[in-house]
Amino acid sequence: MAEKICVLDTTLRDGEQTPGVSLSPKEKLMIAKALDGLGVDELEAGSVATSEGERKAMRLIANEGLDAKVLSFARVMRKEIDTCLECDVDGLFLVAPTSEDHIKFKLKTTPDKLVGSVLDVADYAKSHGLFIDLCCEDGSRTKLDFLRELLEAAKAKIDRFTVADTVGAATPESMTGIFAGLSDLGVPLGVHCHDDLGLAVANTLAAVKAGAGTVDVTVNGLGERAGNAPLEEVVSALGVLYGYGTNIKPEHIYKVSRQVEELTGVAVQANKALVGKNAFTHESGIHVDGILKRPETYEFVKPSLVGRKRVFRFGKHVGSKGLKVILKRVKINVSEEQFKQVLREIKALGDKGKVVTDADLRAIIEQIKGEKKKRFIELGELMAISGNKIIPEATVSAKVAGKPAKATATGDGPVDAAINALEKIVGDVNVSLEEYHVDAITGGSDATVNVTVKLKGRGRVITASGSHTDIIMASVMAMVNGINYLLG
Ligand code: MN
Repeated sequence: MAEKICVLDTTLRDGEQTPGVSLSPKEKLMIAKALDGLGVDELEAGSVATSEGERKAMRLIANEGLDAKVLSFARVMRKEIDTCLECDVDGLFLVAPTSEDHIKFKLKTTPDKLVGSVLDVADYAKSHGLFIDLCCEDGSRTKLDFLRELLEAAKAKIDRFTVADTVGAATPESMTGIFAGLSDLGVPLGVHCHDDLGLAVANTLAAVKAGAGTVDVTVNGLGERAGNAPLEEVVSALGVLYGYGTNIKPEHIYKVSRQVEELTGVAVQANKALVGKNAFTHESGIHVDGILKRPETYEFVKPSLVGRKRVFRFGKHVGSKGLKVILKRVKINVSEEQFKQVLREIKALGDKGKVVTDADLRAIIEQIKGEKKKRFIELGELMAISGNKIIPEATVSAKVAGKPAKATATGDGPVDAAINALEKIVGDVNVSLEEYHVDAITGGSDATVNVTVKLKGRGRVITASGSHTDIIMASVMAMVNGINYLLG
């Protein structure tokens, strides 16, 4: 039976320290519940010293009855422990800077005095029944002798000893040295890594191999500067490559990643491991062919591991095998000659730098087959108004299934209002907008805008796009193209 590693998630503390990110207490509670459902063992939910809102959030989370232990970041100060107690948390992520530079220049104290304060505060916190994870800030740049000295002195008073690579300066080899050098002292060890040189995951794994039993992580690798070790990568690599278990329910990882992306407003890069848009998408003909013959050829990690599905995309790299699969999926039959033409057209669009959507494919095929399908919606007129003193409103008139229709709706902005009006026109037919994405093809405010939408309806999920110099028109065109594809 493989060893189980404890997961301490710090999305709500270190993750929230991502430049530009600020969450309300309600949003923090939503993320805390999602993380608890995901199966994290401990939540570092914030830092009680930050603000009144932060204390409110801590109280909300601590009193939610979550399975996860709720910790607060705390400095080595008695008054901060009092605030933690007022916020009902289960324990502390008690941070003591230990490197020479931090002690001398930041704290302006001496190593002996620092040890004395840590012991005093740890005693105080323990006497109030708090769980204590003593974290050595800049621990990776601290002499091992001093880490050992601190741990020896504090071991009876703390529950865990964490070494932080605060500035991302460690190597897997240096982490191995530190953790192997502490593991004989009989105290559970934790590791906390930052990604300044892209090594947070590798350093975390090295620490675990050398004796760390707890990993500090954040969803999507959020965190200061280049961020922290990402939960999804650490947990998956621990399991897939090293056979370590955790209490994480991996099939929920993608859902939680999307939720955190939405609430923090920090977009996940397309090529991000496991949770990026492209992580399980294949376009190249050679790869698609390989996967169809045997998935393992190009799919070492199964998309289902993190709750996702494999996607084949068409663009200029598509091969005939991939196109066949796609046509089968959308249930379209073409002759051999037509097939060659479709492939040529897709590659030509790709060469122009265009993303080819499901609706584009349908249009190409209709054109090649000489079919002119009746459109479910034919857009007539669009009018949208917006301003600083009015509620944005849009009116759309169109022919729907051959009959004239018109609707007016309000929205958060003119785009939202126009989409709402269009949804009203479609009426009872259930089509929902799953994703909306805008790209400005050229720079400047007169740029051509490409809007891509993902729509769900009649048991299918499809993509469609619209391009225009007017963002409202591009949005409506994308919606109309998508709806016509779903209902046409
Ligand atoms: Mn940190």
